[in-house]
Amino acid sequence: MKSRQVKVIGPYKAVIEEVEVPKPRSHEVLIRVRAVGVCRTDLELFSGKYALPVVLGHEVCGVVVEVGDLVGSVEIGDKVVVECTMGCGYCPECISGRYNLCINYRGKWADGILIGAYSDYICVNERAVHKIPESISDVEGALIEPTSVSLRAVKRANVSTGDSVVIIGPGTIGLLSLQAAKALGATQVILIGTPRSEYKLKLGKELGADITVNIEEESAVETVLHVTGRGADAVIIAASNAAKVLDTALDMVKPGGSISIVGLSGGETAPINSDKIVFKDVSIYGCFSSPNVWENAIKLVSNGLVRVKPLITHVLPLVEFEKAFRIVSERKEKVIKVVLKP
Ligand SMILES: [Zn+2]
Ligand SMILES: [Zn+2]
Repeated sequence: MKSRQVKVIGPYKAVIEEVEVPKPRSHEVLIRVRAVGVCRTDLELFSGKYALPVVLGHEVCGVVVEVGDLVGSVEIGDKVVVECTMGCGYCPECISGRYNLCINYRGKWADGILIGAYSDYICVNERAVHKIPESISDVEGALIEPTSVSLRAVKRANVSTGDSVVIIGPGTIGLLSLQAAKALGATQVILIGTPRSEYKLKLGKELGADITVNIEEESAVETVLHVTGRGADAVIIAASNAAKVLDTALDMVKPGGSISIVGLSGGETAPINSDKIVFKDVSIYGCFSSPNVWENAIKLVSNGLVRVKPLITHVLPLVEFEKAFRIVSERKEKVIKVVLKP
């Protein structure tokens, strides 16, 4: 049996190749991929900046078609999603539960980090596989990964009942973080975006944001201080210019509050006034990947506390991956999440 896969062989050059479908080993699960989300990471890998060749894709939903002889957690026919960082399972970080920081895999794409889901089939260790209910559709299932990332960012900022939360950046992670914050009991969520993201702010409002701020029309800091009094309990930075907005986030957070940084800034640096961190006694959390939250993320989606469907703006066949990348990078049309179907 053959499996098609999208393999990047050079900068912005990818081919669809056919390979033999792997046979699952003892603890492995063979999954027929039904849907895979297009992530900014895929575009980064497509640019060829990292190790080549590489098969793209990590936001995956599929069905188990074969299991290794020792697999006990899932069965053939189960609908599943796959966690992207798994770790070796043996190092001190893995044993302590921080398997996203596995010392045996850090710094290398592909090893220990799930990629390769732009394929008909993937074969993964059962430790990374989570069963989802049939009520979650295939394309919705592809958004469990960003939901998990968002839930973790919100939890890391200690969001709880009655809190005010600022979300900077209304993209996929921002819109999911907003809903996760609400699900954890936040009573006041302020979503901040640019004029270019007006349609996302509007969607944010429909998904539960109490206030949306277009930074061109009003001062986000003033608005946050006006509605919260002393500042927000937590600020989630889900924007792609994270370095630049950190100083602003420090103006928005209340003394003793928390900031989670989940957006990347592509190595960019920006000045910050670190005294604000000191005098406000602020906690700042980095949020890499999504360990230990997948089961809860699945429950949030299956119970409708987090709605992923409104974020899916495009569904395309896998073979049109280059068109999907154009849609995401050019942003000529209203785009939030693009999902591919092998
Ligand atoms: Zn992703
Ligand atoms: Zn490890």
